[in-house]
Amino acid sequence: MLSHIQAKLLIVDDLPENLLALEALIKREDRAVFKALSADEALSLLLQHEFAMAILDVQMPGMNGFELAELMRSTERTKNIPIVFVSAAGRELNYAFKGYESGAVDFLHKPLDIHAVKSKVNVFVDLYRQRKAMKAQVEALEQSRQEQEALLNQLQSTQNELERAVRMRDDFMSIVSHEVRTPLNGLILETQLRKLHLAKDNMAAFTLEKLRAMVDRDERQIQSLIRLIEDMLDVSRIRTGKLSIRTNPFDLVELVSKLLENFSAQIAAAGSTVSFFADEPVIGVWDEFRIEQVVANLLTNALRYGARKPIEVRVYSEGGQALVDVQDQGIGVSLENQKRIFQQFERVTANHAVHGLGLGLFISDQIVAAHGGKIMVESEEGKGSLFRICLPL
Ligand code: ADP
Repeated sequence: MLSHIQAKLLIVDDLPENLLALEALIKREDRAVFKALSADEALSLLLQHEFAMAILDVQMPGMNGFELAELMRSTERTKNIPIVFVSAAGRELNYAFKGYESGAVDFLHKPLDIHAVKSKVNVFVDLYRQRKAMKAQVEALEQSRQEQEALLNQLQSTQNELERAVRMRDDFMSIVSHEVRTPLNGLILETQLRKLHLAKDNMAAFTLEKLRAMVDRDERQIQSLIRLIEDMLDVSRIRTGKLSIRTNPFDLVELVSKLLENFSAQIAAAGSTVSFFADEPVIGVWDEFRIEQVVANLLTNALRYGARKPIEVRVYSEGGQALVDVQDQGIGVSLENQKRIFQQFERVTANHAVHGLGLGLFISDQIVAAHGGKIMVESEEGKGSLFRICLPL
């Protein structure tokens, strides 16, 4: 059954006729017999091959069989090879082989008994094959154990990812419902109040002045709902790879300057100021609407997290890139959180008092990446943040 495992046998004797006779005795199709006429020759063969056993003539000129065996025992590679000594006389057999306390050893006497030789060789070859087969099995077992372990690790990390995804979905649902409810509650309250006034025929509540304020309030609530829905649509567009970029040439300085004008009410409401710095036009080919969205997002964040301190906005070009810096002196972002905030639904926990879905930076980052650019952040907690949009010119 194990005969497919090739067994190499080493026979060492200084007389060629002895070697030939022994070879004829032990040779079989499933064995390879290697002959050595001296201990030196044997050693060089031992270095080249892995032997199932060695049959050593005890009496040899130069190094004798026992000395060769001692040398074999002292070498890691050969120390476990079973040895059979062939000796001419009983005297030698009393020789206690010193280096041979452990490991298989046996003796054969001259003249050789054919049956004894064959059966001894059979035993050692069988032992060798069994050992080899066992080693292969142990190795296969170890490999399958390693494969199982890798699979288990993979499973564990998939489970962690799934758990994280479920947690993120739950968090997201609660944030979304909260974010939707805030403007809706405002609208509902307004409507109920107006109904009450109407029921009482209280036309004084609907003067031109008051109507204007009402419409403004309604518009703000509706705008915030629209933004929420737009953000969620953008995320789904990004996920399905359908975020489209429609480019045309425009001046980034002009875009940012107009945006800041539109933001004046929000800047005042946030109790902050924004200084704008730009020396010359920075013209490039990008998606005007999307880039405005990104700058607006960074500006909104600077107002939200800027601790009412002055904000600086810069537009300039450098090294073949168009750059927009939005710098605040607010709460800042720790190094650890700087990596997180660009992922979807990621917010810094301590900031939960401030509304937001944690989508703005994710969407902005994806938009800028779709232009072949990137957003960088430099920040220190408590000292403020610099968000920089880099776009290829
Ligand atoms: P949102 O502001 O809606 O939560 P964003 O994706 O725009 O979502 O921002 C993710 C998080 O990054 C914010 O919740 C906030 O914790 C942090 N962050 C963004 N901009 C700033 C900033 N200028 N200063 C401090 N923290 C910021």
